[in-house]
Amino acid sequence: MPNHRRPTAEIPPETRSSKLRTRIGYGWDSHEFKRGIPLKIGGVTLPHPRGLGGHSDGDVLLHAITDALLGAVAAPDIGTLFSPSDSEWKGADSAIFLAEALRRVREAGYAVANLDSTLILAAPKIGPHSARIRARVAELMGLPADCVGVKAKTPEGMGTDNAAIAHAVVLLEKKITRR
Ligand code: MG
Repeated sequence: MPNHRRPTAEIPPETRSSKLRTRIGYGWDSHEFKRGIPLKIGGVTLPHPRGLGGHSDGDVLLHAITDALLGAVAAPDIGTLFSPSDSEWKGADSAIFLAEALRRVREAGYAVANLDSTLILAAPKIGPHSARIRARVAELMGLPADCVGVKAKTPEGMGTDNAAIAHAVVLLEKKITRR
């Protein structure tokens, strides 16, 4: 995290709890489809005529995972740390956001145990790409692929065919420190 900004939602050290053995985190995001930009989901570029709009690369899945990680350690959320009004993050690779969230998880003394996620989008079909997405997300998170769930559903009756939605939950475990 560049030190040019001090987020206002930081929790003072004296009020932090480091006693929890496990922590859970949840994140959600949505982005609108737009023509003429690449579609990136889970750090993978998928073949599709439309991509996801947004200030960064619009990677809805990495944004949901990032917020789940940040939430698990009660850190400021993705929009606070990486403001859409900041030109520094225009077109940014969302892996940068995920890396910062993982750094904060480690700093808080935790490691990611596993992650589960659900994508909701009308098209493209995720099935043919899900193994590649799972492998890339696992790589970015430093997890075995069997600790990363990536499920996909179509938005039946929701009227959100022009958007991609992602939900993510993470489980953190306290790192054991030997002395
Ligand atoms: Mg987003």
